Amino acid sequence: MRRTVLHGLFALVLGALLVAGCSRDNMNVNAPPSKSTSSGAPSLFKGNATGDPAVIATLLKVNQQLAAQGLNVAIESADFFTIGNGRPSARLHQLPYRWVPNDPRRSADGDNIRYLVDVSHGTTISGLSSAQTEGAIDAALSTWASDAALKKVTLEKRPYTGIDPSIVDGLEGFGGIGTPFQADIVNAGWYPRGFFDAIGGPGGGSGILGVTFTFIFVDGNGNPSDINGDNYIDEAFTETYYNNTFGDPSNDRAGFPWAINVPLPAIDVQTVALHENGHALDLGHFGPPPNAVMNPVYAGIRQSPFPPDDAGMNAVWSSWPNP
Ligand SMILES: [Zn+2]
Repeated sequence: MRRTVLHGLFALVLGALLVAGCSRDNMNVNAPPSKSTSSGAPSLFKGNATGDPAVIATLLKVNQQLAAQGLNVAIESADFFTIGNGRPSARLHQLPYRWVPNDPRRSADGDNIRYLVDVSHGTTISGLSSAQTEGAIDAALSTWASDAALKKVTLEKRPYTGIDPSIVDGLEGFGGIGTPFQADIVNAGWYPRGFFDAIGGPGGGSGILGVTFTFIFVDGNGNPSDINGDNYIDEAFTETYYNNTFGDPSNDRAGFPWAINVPLPAIDVQTVALHENGHALDLGHFGPPPNAVMNPVYAGIRQSPFPPDDAGMNAVWSSWPNP
């Protein structure tokens, strides 16, 4: 009898694990947002986190800082695009998230999704100008905007006004804490190796080309919200940071300089921007195989979506702005 009960429990747990695994990998799964955890711990601080423990600890610490300031947003995920060895993305809840059209909490411009490039962090040690960086990011956004899967959404560029738009850098001690909600998708620019060591775990600074953080809205108890009842937790904003270590002649990554349209061992900014802004548009990593812009490890110049990227975008955006 006892063995049967235990067996049943084991099957239940295994089933739950399988469902959790599916929801991570299949963007069509409608997993409901989590309610309060039975332990009483706010899910803001820990849901079903996965990823490098050092990264998760950093994300949880950032969320505690945000909660202490009374902000109703929390980091939900950090996605790393690397060269050489891959690095697991970190997720705090394992729940899928989406932008909410017309969301007043992020001062949404109707159904448009707004992006911004912080040109004050635009130059690379490898010699790119801020205009070159901005041009590569604009080209990447333009590529997604012209993808058939995104024909129902307008990607709208917002000007950089001189007001710092990003907050993860400031929370980690790299500059001030900026003012969010100037745009939905923030390309925060080039940051030093120490920032990627701080947020990427051991060795992060030498392997991570770029990282995108996804923030979600949370209620007063720290639980994710779903105001439009679409069974996705509500996205607040994203921040993407690019690693200025590459091409710095003073270190071990000198041989992999940031450039535009130059093959390996140079790193193409537009390729990395296309990948990172794919995250901002709610694509996760997949493969290889198959080859895709959203493979987690850099594999040379890829400035156009592959069929799996299109399929992913179609799953996210085909019904926009309706749930
Ligand atoms: Zn990525």
